[in-house]
Amino acid sequence: QEEEDEFSGVYSIDVAVRVRPLNSMELADSQLHTVRVMDEKIVVVLDPSKLEGGNEDDYLRAHRSRERRYTFDHVFDETASQQKVYAATTEKLIGGVMEGFNASCFAYGATGAGKTYTMLGNKENPGCMLLTVGELFHRIEDDTSKTYRVYLTYLEVYNENIRDLLNPSTGYLDLREDPVKGICVAGITEFSTTNVGETMELLQRGNLNRTVEPTKKNETSSRSHAVMQIMIEAKEKTADISEQVKIGKLSLIDLAGSERASATDNRGARLVEGANINRSLLALANCINALASDSEAAARAGRNGRRRVRSNFVPYRDSKLTRLLKDSFGGNSRTVMITNVSPAGNQYEETVNTLKYANRAK
Ligand code: ADP
Ligand code: MG
Repeated sequence: QEEEDEFSGVYSIDVAVRVRPLNSMELADSQLHTVRVMDEKIVVVLDPSKLEGGNEDDYLRAHRSRERRYTFDHVFDETASQQKVYAATTEKLIGGVMEGFNASCFAYGATGAGKTYTMLGNKENPGCMLLTVGELFHRIEDDTSKTYRVYLTYLEVYNENIRDLLNPSTGYLDLREDPVKGICVAGITEFSTTNVGETMELLQRGNLNRTVEPTKKNETSSRSHAVMQIMIEAKEKTADISEQVKIGKLSLIDLAGSERASATDNRGARLVEGANINRSLLALANCINALASDSEAAARAGRNGRRRVRSNFVPYRDSKLTRLLKDSFGGNSRTVMITNVSPAGNQYEETVNTLKYANRAK
């Protein structure tokens, strides 16, 4: 632990796992529970084919040596509140963003695993996007030493195209690199607000514009990545005109369902779409892995009293999503991944795949 603190300049990504409750349909269907949260950091997946009679304790005793056991920075069981998940994940990004650093949080998981619930939530149980924005607005109000300008955008990446969710009639939008603001989306709606209720309405309206198409597997499967970005420009009130404004960018991403294209047994357009989803998710994984192995090497070099000279090539250009977020993960920016899984027996394969992906991101 101390060693980690010593090299705190090193990039690392915080990985959390959230297990959603079984829903009423799954309960009525007597779906087995295949995920067991052991403690705040350890989760075990139980193979339903070996879970005779559904006795988890017998299973854990019998399969102790060969079970799928994973350790993460945070593991939340089905009773975890939105507030609890938020406090351990995106809340920690706010301070840095107000100081002019970039940060991002990805919700990853199969369709139906709880990504949108975690990120957006609903009026009664607002998710990370709203809780984060609310706290950010509070802190901005309390900080009388600076003048802030805040605006947000909400877009989707669908089939490697970017669409403005707050103004979908503008069609596909292009990325460009601004010398001051970094990566931008040309022509996107920038919405200025410091009102949480207004933000909720905005995001909910935007979500209705997300591309949702029926597939054989799931009528409401979401096939797009939804990206909310909030830009915070801060300026010391005492600063003279020549002084630069600090710009921080916070990106909160509700990723498309991670299930494999093959699993949906689709043809034609759906298949291409599935391949594109996997392309962005794969590119994201490749970037995160390159960054993670970099930081490992840097820590090793640091321990041996050397400075690290060469860093890995990070393949940001491999997909629209990673190009868009190039300046929001890696480098000085902090990243959190919230991995959502369903505990239902019929989701066992997806749950294992999801946790494997998350495990590689650490
Ligand atoms: P995804 O966005 O990953 O496809 P959703 O967030 O839409 O999945 O979740 C699927 C369903 O499960 C929704 O009806 C959602 O409200 C519900 N759900 C997900 N996570 C939770 C949770 N932690 N507590 C209660 N209900 C949840
Ligand atoms: Mg969703």
